[in-house]
Amino acid sequence: MIRLLTDLLGVFSADIGIDLGTANTLVYVRGRGVVVNEPSVIAIEQISGRILAVGSPAKAMVGRTPQNIVAHRPLHDGVIADFDVVEQMLRYFISRVHPQTLFLPRPRVIVGIPSGVTEVEKRAVQEAAISAGARDAYLVEEPMAAAIGANMPIQDAVGNIIVDIGGGTTETAVISLGGVVLAHSVRIAGTELDQAIIDYMRAEHGLLIGERSAEACKIDVGSTRPFEGEGATIVRGRDLASRLPRSLEVSSGQIREAITPVVSEILNCVNTALESTPPELLADIMISGICLAGGGALLRGIESSIESVTGISAYVTERPLEAVAMGTGICLENIDLYRDVFVGDGVAAR
Ligand code: ADP
Ligand code: MG
Repeated sequence: MIRLLTDLLGVFSADIGIDLGTANTLVYVRGRGVVVNEPSVIAIEQISGRILAVGSPAKAMVGRTPQNIVAHRPLHDGVIADFDVVEQMLRYFISRVHPQTLFLPRPRVIVGIPSGVTEVEKRAVQEAAISAGARDAYLVEEPMAAAIGANMPIQDAVGNIIVDIGGGTTETAVISLGGVVLAHSVRIAGTELDQAIIDYMRAEHGLLIGERSAEACKIDVGSTRPFEGEGATIVRGRDLASRLPRSLEVSSGQIREAITPVVSEILNCVNTALESTPPELLADIMISGICLAGGGALLRGIESSIESVTGISAYVTERPLEAVAMGTGICLENIDLYRDVFVGDGVAAR
């Protein structure tokens, strides 16, 4: 009887899909779509442990905090470095989209997790979601969610390949019959591209620039190969010799030179996965092509670079930054159809 009542009220309760990315967290609410898209950053006052800001306002604090405030990126390297902080972040995002009242049942939550995480980590994410307010917590591997979000026929007996280039990790997964056949993940992605720009500016121009400036420069003029309308951008930082502020114009060619070694490592991740792909699936992939998702898929020229190293055509899915969140959303809307793609069992609140 109670179950029936909760099921009935469940119609009004907003089930939630969460892409807990290293760079960005997106929240999909059933029936409404993606309603939150914020950087995965949380600013905490050190002594009191008080949360000062989450998302964009917290990201704006990175590199600008006084000593008593820490701006955490709790998923920095693609692994969950700090579960307490992740739980606080989840709680904040869930509460933003789900009113907590006595009468509404708590939401069902699906969380996308990197494919390499351990059993202990998986359990910890589920527990974190439950204690952050979920009624049931399911997990789906991010590449699987991205492939579903990209409308790939993942449940068919054909090989599908997806490359998700995020902030902290690049994950390549081959999927068939609703399961991940193989996955290869490297901790090299958007953040390392930014770091390569920082290193280049320091080594070649004696200019110290911050993470956010490097990222802006990458988005502005970054590329993997020459492109039409090559240009230049201004970067600002501190001159290492004079210790004074200095701005400098850098060309898209210089930025390309700076990031090329990192791009090669990203391309290697795709090749390594292809090398261990069984021949039948490889044959399918040669026909359907390589799907790219994640923010790194927006780097100019990445799909043609992937094509030239693999010999297989590549395409960027529509709205690559939202693919994982959309995938968790599609799972939420059709939970019975996708039950097989969840990792392990769902965990229910006690
Ligand atoms: P995650 O899933 O790890 O949170 P995302 O898929 O949200 O990562 O992608 C974030 C990364 O994508 C960041 O490193 C960001 O700099 C990069 N990015 C976003 N837009 C672009 C763009 N237009 N060109 C190149 N990189 C981009
Ligand atoms: Mg991601």
